[in-house]
Amino acid sequence: LLVLGIETSCDDTAAAVVRSNGDILGQVVSSQADLLAQFGGVAPKMAEEAHAKVIDQVVQQALEEANVKEGDLSAVAVTIGPGLSLCLRVGVSKARKIARNFCLPFVGVHHMEAHALVARLMEKDLQFPFLALLISGGHNLLILAHDLGHYVQLGTTIDDAVGEAYDKVARWLGLDIRKGGGPALEALALEGNADAIKFSIPMKQHKDCNFSYAGLKTQVRLSIQSHKINSAIPISSVNPQERSLRADIAASFQRVAVSHLEERCERAIEWALEIEPTIKCLVVSGGVASNKYVRARLDRLVGRNGLKLVCPPPSLCTDNGVMVAWTGLEHYRLGRFDDPPPADEPEDTVLDLRPRWPLGEELIKGRSQAL
Ligand code: ATP
Ligand code: FE
Repeated sequence: LLVLGIETSCDDTAAAVVRSNGDILGQVVSSQADLLAQFGGVAPKMAEEAHAKVIDQVVQQALEEANVKEGDLSAVAVTIGPGLSLCLRVGVSKARKIARNFCLPFVGVHHMEAHALVARLMEKDLQFPFLALLISGGHNLLILAHDLGHYVQLGTTIDDAVGEAYDKVARWLGLDIRKGGGPALEALALEGNADAIKFSIPMKQHKDCNFSYAGLKTQVRLSIQSHKINSAIPISSVNPQERSLRADIAASFQRVAVSHLEERCERAIEWALEIEPTIKCLVVSGGVASNKYVRARLDRLVGRNGLKLVCPPPSLCTDNGVMVAWTGLEHYRLGRFDDPPPADEPEDTVLDLRPRWPLGEELIKGRSQAL
């Protein structure tokens, strides 16, 4: 089987061709990070235009790299949600066009499910059930994956996701975020003392698996203000003393941000093992999972709890087409797909877009009080 996967839910336009044995035959990602750096966030209309400009070329290139023609494909998979609807529709309309023209089955993919399942492409013996921590720009999820398409949400963020916090703090510290705030902050933190500034770990008093990063962001903002750091002055222009202060803030923020992840994961492991005692792995995926410090600390935590950490390589943690192709393939194999769109379907038809789409069901209410 050969599946083409297309991803346009946020700020990356991506496509890939994946074979059922897990071989990645072709993959292309075109990023809008420099646009974001310029305008301070994702402006939906601008992001849509950027996707529309490159989508044909990105798909074409992925097929060429794979040395595959559309007619050789078994199915076309595309992210249908969650994400910005203007952006999603660029990918969906392209995917339907290919599916229609070449009479191919169509698989609508959940972006966060794709972040989780790409771990099964990397780790062939990763069986269900497993626990997953999905950490990215818009999501912070702890998921118990019972089976393909059967997920229970143990925790989510009550405000911001950790990736959003990394992006904001990077901006406030005057970092060059053209390649993303997270990687820039990770690099600066290496120069700093993580114990220099005492930020407090969020939600200590809540004995559940939810997250909160808004309060930590505020703590960091106040610290930046009290140290009279001018965010408009790029880090490349400040003196060594100020650079080291900024690095201390970065490292201290990162330490606490990850301690919060760690604490929630530890509880989630406990909860998950009660429900599914056969769980052996914690999957960590999403953009923030490409961070080496995050990986190292979660690896130690998981080891202490007798589990194994499965973390895809960085290029498969951030948004990519491979995860969409692979997730499409997993569903297709089980017969979960739509028939090829009718030949007379009008151009630019976009059905079943799901900008807001929870992954699985929430854990039965009251569970957190009971523990
Ligand atoms: P979502 O998956 O929630 O829809 P998204 O698709 O925009 O959001 P991803 O591409 O999965 O997000 O991840 C991007 C996020 O990951 C950004 O917030 C970015 O700062 C963060 N990130 C990427 N690399 C790193 C890193 N090395 N350290 C910390 N954060 C990182
Ligand atoms: Fe993502």
